[in-house]
Parts: sequence; C-alpha cells; structure tokens
Amino acid sequence: MTDVDGNIYVDYLLGQGPLLLGHSSPTVVEAVKRVLEQGQLFGGQHELEISVAKRMCDLIPCAELVRFGSSGSEMVQIALRLARAFTGRNLVLKFEGHYHGWFDNTLVSVHPPLGQAGERTSPNSVPGSKGQDPAAVADTRVLPWNDEKVLREFFTEHGDRLAALIMEPVMLNTHAVLPRPGYLEEARRLCDEHGTVLIFDEVITGFRLGLSGAQGRFHVVPDLAVFGKAMASGFPIACLAGRQRLMDLIAGGEVVHAGTFNSNLTVMAAADATTRALAEDGAQSYEGMTRRGEQLMEGIREIASRHGLPLLVEGLPTAFATAYTDRPEIRDYREFAEHCDQTKYKRLALALLERGVHVALRGIWYLSTAHTEDDIEKTLEAVEGALLAVESDREPAGERG
Ligand code: PMP
Repeated sequence: MTDVDGNIYVDYLLGQGPLLLGHSSPTVVEAVKRVLEQGQLFGGQHELEISVAKRMCDLIPCAELVRFGSSGSEMVQIALRLARAFTGRNLVLKFEGHYHGWFDNTLVSVHPPLGQAGERTSPNSVPGSKGQDPAAVADTRVLPWNDEKVLREFFTEHGDRLAALIMEPVMLNTHAVLPRPGYLEEARRLCDEHGTVLIFDEVITGFRLGLSGAQGRFHVVPDLAVFGKAMASGFPIACLAGRQRLMDLIAGGEVVHAGTFNSNLTVMAAADATTRALAEDGAQSYEGMTRRGEQLMEGIREIASRHGLPLLVEGLPTAFATAYTDRPEIRDYREFAEHCDQTKYKRLALALLERGVHVALRGIWYLSTAHTEDDIEKTLEAVEGALLAVESDREPAGERG
C-alpha cells in the first residue's frame, strides 16, 4: 500500500480482511473488467450467480441453498429473520465481543464498557450506539463465549423461547480466540435439543480459514451461515448459506429477502474469480499463507520474549492477534477488556506504521497470498523496532489517543 506521501507499507489490515489475494489481484481485476462491458445488473439471474452458488454449495458443509446480498450486516438480518420465521420465536442469543453488523438488534454488547456490562454470567444487553431501538436490543440476549456451563443453564431456562444462537465460530472481532474443545459441539447439541437455529457468522472466517470455513475446519455444521469479506477480494457481496428446510421459506416467498444490487455482475465476477482461484489451486494458497503466518507469529513471539515484553500472540496463521497482557491466553471478551492494555497496543500499531507496517489498531493481523517471505522479514524487523520504541517512550498511556 502506498500513501499520499509516497510511503510504502506492508498491509496486514487488508481492508478489514477481504483482500485474501492481496490488493488488486490480477485474476480478480481481469474478471471484473471482462464483465463490465457485458452489463451491470439484470434484476434476474445470470450464469455467474449460478457458478458462485454452485461453488458455495460444493465447498460449504451447511450450504444446501444460498442467497446473495451486498453486506455482512444485511445477510445476518435475513439469517435472523429466517430463524424467527422457522421457529415462531423471538429471542436471539449472541456473545460478548462478537460482532454481527451494525443494525439495531446486533450491535449489542460487542465491546460494552465494563461498568455497564453487568454480571459475567448474566450480562446486560448493551447497545453500541445512540438511536438503537430498545425493543430490538432487549430481544438480543448476551452471554460470555466459550463457557459451556453458562450456555447450558441459559438453554435450560430460555431455550424454548430462543429462535437463534449466533456466534463467530472463532472470535475475531475481539483479539483472536479459538473455540474451546467441545464448545461448538455443545452449542450444536443444545440447539438441536431445543429447536433453536444455529447460525455461524463466517464473515471473517469464511475462506480465510480454508475453503469450507470454520464449520469445515471444526467439523460442526450450523443450520445457517453468513459469508462475506474474503469471498470477493474487496467487492461488496455477502452470502447466506443454509439448510434447505430453512432456505425454502425464502424460495416460497413466506420470508422476504430483497435488494436491488444483489448479485450484480461486477461483484459476482469478483466472487467467481476469487473462489475459483482458491478452490482450483490445490490448497497451495492456504499452505503458503499458513506458512508465512506461522513464521510471523513465531517471529513476533521470539522478539517479544527476547526483550522480556508481555506481548501475547494468539489465533490462526491467516488471522491472528497480538495484545499486551500478562495472561498466557485470552478466552473471552471480559478477559480481553480487563487484562489487555489497548492504549499501549495502539501506540505499537502507530510505531509499526512509522516503520512501514500497516496493522489494525485492535490487534488483529490478516495474511494474504500476496505476502512474501521478504515481507515477513521486513515486518519482523519493524516489529522489533516498534516494540522497543514503545518501551522507550515515556509518555503516559492515553495521551496519544
Ligand atoms: N459479521 C462479522 C463477523 C464481521 O466481522 C462483520 C464486519 N466486520 C460483519 C458481520 C458485518 O459485515 P459488513 O461490514 O459487510 O456489513
């Protein structure tokens, strides 16, 4: 990435994740250019839409049918509407630290101030913005993630009123936290037992963790899943994938899903080129990204430990997080909020920027197929310089914003 002053950066933000093939991947750019002269929007089906739909159904375990839309936030809404229609219930359960878009019923307890968050095991539903409809917020219940006992107790008490359980199968909107062994299986079991629709929000994990998403990686299949970001290299598309018995409600017109720009030619060309490139290269892309991600994670750990700095590196090679903390691991939102020094981390991110490395201020690092060994080496040099610069900086935390 080059900024307005001509400074060049190795980019690990990747437009908040979508650029799995790097910026301006020639494969994707060529595919989009080709369709630009064929048309933009037909208000009906076309071949590219069928091609991407078939590929999604081939690759994604829960995908018996799919729908396309233009953003993750929006496709989460149709997933929740389907779940309410299917179950005849109203309540939705989500987890602290998980993000499912900016709408009234989902921007709830994403990063709640600890003073407002309530008891750990029965948290308040805290809106993230002024102006949210209080009724929508109240129907969204919240729990700490990764705690089987609390989840079981909630289902015992409220399971028969619960339309949907929605989660990021790997929590990547707060640090990078893997599900504890057995947790996803237990969520699946409880949803089956209580007739609740299990929704995986794979907007980040989709294609980033592998061709079949987190559900393929962890072998737990949800009823519905939402994909977005990495499926189209930066073009605005998202996808709802799910079981036929649910998706048929849309096909039959009982549940409405619409959108003028859904499945337009440009985004479908980008999605087709991206998913085809990933699906047809015999896992090479993922192997390369994983290798370089591992090098980076290990390298950062080694530098931090050599200098005795409490920098925790966790997650998966294609999406990992770094945080200043004395904890050996972070398991949920509260642990992150209470034990990670986010102000200091922002200083590290700015020090990295000054050394030619662009990372998210919140700690996440995304890998792409475009990152090279050379990029990793340069990055590790910058990391060492930036870590030491932050330590030698005597300004009190908070002054730099
Ligand atoms: N779900 C998750 C897990 C996300 O990370 C995001 C976006 N960061 C969304 C949903 C919302 O997607 P969009 O920004 O495309 O509306």
